[in-house]
Amino acid sequence: SIVVTGATGHLGRLIIDALLAGGTPASGIAAVVRNKEKAAGLAELGVELRTADYDQPETLDGAFAAGDRVVLVSGSEVGKRVPQHTAVIEAAKAAGVAQLAYTSILGGPEADFDLAAEHQATERLILDSGLPYTLLRNGWYTENYTANLGPVLEHGAVVANAGEGRVASAARADYAAAAAAVVTGEGHLGQVYELSGDTAWSLAEYAAEVARQSGREVAYRNVSPEEHLAVLTGAGVPEPFAAILVDVDQAIGRGRLAGTSGDLARLISRPTTPLTDTVADALRQR
Ligand code: NDP
Repeated sequence: SIVVTGATGHLGRLIIDALLAGGTPASGIAAVVRNKEKAAGLAELGVELRTADYDQPETLDGAFAAGDRVVLVSGSEVGKRVPQHTAVIEAAKAAGVAQLAYTSILGGPEADFDLAAEHQATERLILDSGLPYTLLRNGWYTENYTANLGPVLEHGAVVANAGEGRVASAARADYAAAAAAVVTGEGHLGQVYELSGDTAWSLAEYAAEVARQSGREVAYRNVSPEEHLAVLTGAGVPEPFAAILVDVDQAIGRGRLAGTSGDLARLISRPTTPLTDTVADALRQR
């Protein structure tokens, strides 16, 4: 089977949609989920559900079978991901999967910001495991920004500490299509892809785009790291995660999420989704 972990999450679900759209029958897809109720929609499609929690390694027995081609969608709990991913990799190894594709971070070992550390450790674990692998080094989702449109419109400001840094983001669906492509196509074993949008934009350009489409006044407010941390914690973001976001912005200021290798467009055989489209979708959904 083609197996997708994190299948009840945003990206995992889109990977399954991309597999189905590409002609993989639902009966050939298995979803690893920790919450079966949340996966009811997947079961209705005919996708096989395999229940497992990364925090309980014994539950991963039976998550994978010999010959499976697996997408490990990185976990969402920052700080817990090395033991979690270790458990998944060990289970995949024990089962004898044919491919493990992992959603890593743009730049891989070169990514010099805090959020990258767990991805770098996971990449090393995968290489050391001897499993046939594909590394999907994902850049930023455009939705990281558009998910926050409410406060941006309310305050007329995009607040960040990224300076003039640019972000080559793409839509989640683009990264999902790439993950589906590498587990259904040939020639991807041992490959490392630097996945990002075709065009890198600055936060000032993002603010201008939101202003243009919404008809409101929206400007980029570049603040100090300390002020951004205060804004985020004031808005209810837990301090440790707010600190990670501030650190990411500094990395954006250094150009670390601006790379436009073209790998993503090549894997999906189409241009990546433009910023304009994702902003329009987000405004429509409000
Ligand atoms: P989501 O939070 O929507 O999905 C995360 C998925 O991981 C969920 O299905 C969740 O299960 C599952 N999961 C988390 N912990 C466990 C666990 N202990 N055992 C089993 N499953 C678990 O994130 P996205 O889909 O948006 O993004 C996918 C991943 O990409 C994130 O987890 C994160 O690693 C990374 N990311 C990348 C970003 C980028 O811009 N490139 C931005 C943000 C995250 P459940 O549905 O039950 O909660």
